[in-house]
Amino acid sequence: MILVLRRGLEDSQVAQVYEHLTNLGLAGQSVRSGQHTLIVLQDDAGQLPTHFFSQVESVERVLRLQSRCPLAINRGSVSIKFPGGAVIGGGTPIAIAGPCSVEGQVQTMHLAKQVQAAGASLLRGGAYKPRTSPYDFQGLGLEALHYLREAKEATGMPVVSEVMSPEQVERAEPFVDMYQIGSRNMYSYELLKEVGRSRIPVLLKRAMSATIDEFLQAAEYIMSEGNLQVVFCERGIRTFETHTRNTLDLSAVAALKSMTNLPVIVDPSHATGRREMIRPMSRAAIACGADGLIVEVHDDPCKAVSDGAQAITPAALRDVIADMHAISNVVKACDNGFALDDRPAMVSLALPRDCRPTGVTERS
Ligand code: PEP
Ligand code: MN
Repeated sequence: MILVLRRGLEDSQVAQVYEHLTNLGLAGQSVRSGQHTLIVLQDDAGQLPTHFFSQVESVERVLRLQSRCPLAINRGSVSIKFPGGAVIGGGTPIAIAGPCSVEGQVQTMHLAKQVQAAGASLLRGGAYKPRTSPYDFQGLGLEALHYLREAKEATGMPVVSEVMSPEQVERAEPFVDMYQIGSRNMYSYELLKEVGRSRIPVLLKRAMSATIDEFLQAAEYIMSEGNLQVVFCERGIRTFETHTRNTLDLSAVAALKSMTNLPVIVDPSHATGRREMIRPMSRAAIACGADGLIVEVHDDPCKAVSDGAQAITPAALRDVIADMHAISNVVKACDNGFALDDRPAMVSLALPRDCRPTGVTERS
């Protein structure tokens, strides 16, 4: 376990933390990391609940170092940069959008242009589809990858697409800018190792029954092979609830953000299975710190070959993305110390510049 102390502490305050540790019968060693002092606790402290320390005022964060995940946890700030300028984890939230399945050349090109016009930065589209039933549409495979590449050439948008086997990793490499590891394959360790050997960023989706620790260890599989460009995606977990397709576990976003510096995005489509819930869940995801969204979009959702019930139209995506930026601005304002009486200014800040009421000034 590692205690990350607040910046700029006096020696006496650090000494107080040590005193607290001694009272608990613990010993630790301090290490400087940038502007922070870290106290690395002995192995046996790993059994203690983190709230033992989070109530100590000088402690900013407690990192439970599953020492099995040294790369996924406790790295410097990570942002994933794509050719053309899109960045995941750079402080401005991004949207990845597109159809669940690539259905054809015209559809892919048309949707790519529409999601880009709505504000999406990356294009998603399934070429190899992990379907629950073997009788359902399995994806257009290589043909779909060609359509995605054409759409990328036309729009400049980087492409995200799922690979389900080590062989598909090599096949998809010339066509994709980010591999997606789907929920059903988060435990496919040979697949994780294979994308780990590539240098293409990986979008790692949480398995529907994975604990956060298992999710982290799946990222560690990728990173231990040398590929450090991993983005976590919370896409809902399976619970007793049947109203929604899955249950969106937003606490996983906050947990991952506190434990790792890798970007975390949210998939409100698979999390809910219901298009009317995508906008509210997207708002919540950004409010709790997600670095972006991946949303299924179709120009005629009722006719989609897969997951139509959870797809929104490009017009609806525009609203989701506007909300995403507005809420991100409010979160940043809160982080920068807005006080309660600044609320009108915060609301104003969230509005597009030309909609702000006059007379409300921005704080720098
Ligand atoms: C998908 O993104 O289309 C998909 C199948 O997602 P998941 O692996 O989260 O079910
Ligand atoms: Mn889907």
